[in-house]
Amino acid sequence: MSPEFDHVHDLVGIGIGPFNLGLACLAEPLDLDTVFLDSAPEFRWHPGMMIDGATIQVPFLADLVSLADPTSPFSFLNWLKRTGRLYPFYIRESFYPLRAEYDAYGRWASEQLPNLRWGRHVTMIEYDSDGDLYRVRAERRDTGEAEVVLARHVVVGVGTRPFVPEPLRELAGPVLHSADYLDHRDRLRQARSIMIIGSGQSAAEIYRELLGDLPGGGYRLDWVTRSPRFFPMEYTKLTLELTSPDYTDHFHGLPLQQRQRLGRDQRALYKGISGDLIDDIYDTLYRLSAGGPVPTTLLTETELVDADWDGEQYRLRLRHTQLDRVYQRRADALVLATGYTAGIPSFLDPIRNRLLIDPVGRLAVARDYSIDAGRGRIFVQNGEEHTHGLTAPDLGFGAWRNSAILAAITGAEPYPIERRIAFQEFGLPADAEPSEASAADTLGVAR
Ligand SMILES: Cc1cc2nc3c(=O)[nH]c(=O)nc-3n(C[C@H](O)[C@H](O)[C@H](O)COP(=O)(O)OP(=O)(O)OC[C@H]3O[C@@H](n4cnc5c(N)ncnc54)[C@H](O)[C@@H]3O)c2cc1C
Repeated sequence: MSPEFDHVHDLVGIGIGPFNLGLACLAEPLDLDTVFLDSAPEFRWHPGMMIDGATIQVPFLADLVSLADPTSPFSFLNWLKRTGRLYPFYIRESFYPLRAEYDAYGRWASEQLPNLRWGRHVTMIEYDSDGDLYRVRAERRDTGEAEVVLARHVVVGVGTRPFVPEPLRELAGPVLHSADYLDHRDRLRQARSIMIIGSGQSAAEIYRELLGDLPGGGYRLDWVTRSPRFFPMEYTKLTLELTSPDYTDHFHGLPLQQRQRLGRDQRALYKGISGDLIDDIYDTLYRLSAGGPVPTTLLTETELVDADWDGEQYRLRLRHTQLDRVYQRRADALVLATGYTAGIPSFLDPIRNRLLIDPVGRLAVARDYSIDAGRGRIFVQNGEEHTHGLTAPDLGFGAWRNSAILAAITGAEPYPIERRIAFQEFGLPADAEPSEASAADTLGVAR
């Protein structure tokens, strides 16, 4: 065990995905002693879905820093300049960088920060009451040695993990989650039949790529979703105002039940498919059908009840939710594009008594992203969808959240924090006049 002796950092970040990498970039010019730990050997953004030609779903200004500090040297525009890509990007005239560019940009930014420690898997956080500080224990991936980092503040940015529906968790055979698609693509293409489950962007991207090999690809391709339709992500500007500090304030202030219902209703806003990709898929089906029947089936309102592997094929039981009819279908390979989920990392267990947990067993994340019952010492990134709404996983909101976390930690506002950006008012209008009659009166409900 090589303790870092008794050097105490102001902040330790756990996980170096885009959100904590953005925090590291924004903290770099400040008088703040920070260190960041990640299990991975280097910054790699969703390598399993680095599909050729795929773009990110947010404009380039949603980079690691620009919405907090447009002058930061860690901006995407500066990366383009440093890598000689600025003029081609300018001529390309698209707001949406390639996913591969965002990945390379992140790595470029990370390579300029000496306080990032890769290959450190955090296993435990303990509270040291004498020192009033946190001991973060990490296992070095290279030596297996344990390393301890001491810090006054902790920011948990470990992202989300692939979600696999319960009936499929023990499934044997060649089943994969979309997060690992590229690692298994070649093997998938050897199958005689492939079924993709799910209706988000990842499902659509995988379907489009595999559809491109048909009819010569030699497999039947099924795309199955329990959603009523293959729905587009909503990009209209008044809806995009929901990814704002204004709406986050409103959402955070709502009762838990309302937040849960809203969370379900708002899925279409960011769990759908980009409209261009839906049309590209349709046009591809149209083009392929000119040469005869296309070996593919697209099924909506269809739920996967369960599945088993007979050593050669999957036997899948599917239920048509409107007809309430269960039937069987077979496939050689299964791709679960069933999304991601945030949870309470187990390394927080030793300090659970210092955290606020909501009645459903999730972190009760305060508006300033702290999770330690108002002490303001432990914060979370992209683990607060249930308390803050759809801004949690949104790259476009990372810089705002990091500015808020840095303000909470420094007690100052190193980066200006916009309190209001929307034209809409999401709660009561500021100039609302109190009404004599209560809500019950107006609804004619007896008091
Ligand atoms: C394929 C895909 C495409 C997406 N595209 C977009 C998009 O275009 N626009 C958008 O707004 N959002 C997008 N998202 C959503 C979201 O922005 C991303 O998931 C983003 O990567 C989340 O960043 P993060 O920092 O929270 O976590 P992650 O990127 O998941 O990074 C978490 C890091 O934590 C590390 N880690 C985990 N556990 C430990 C541990 N115990 N110890 C040390 N390190 C640990 C991991 O190694 C990882 O590097 C996309 C998501 C996916 C899956």
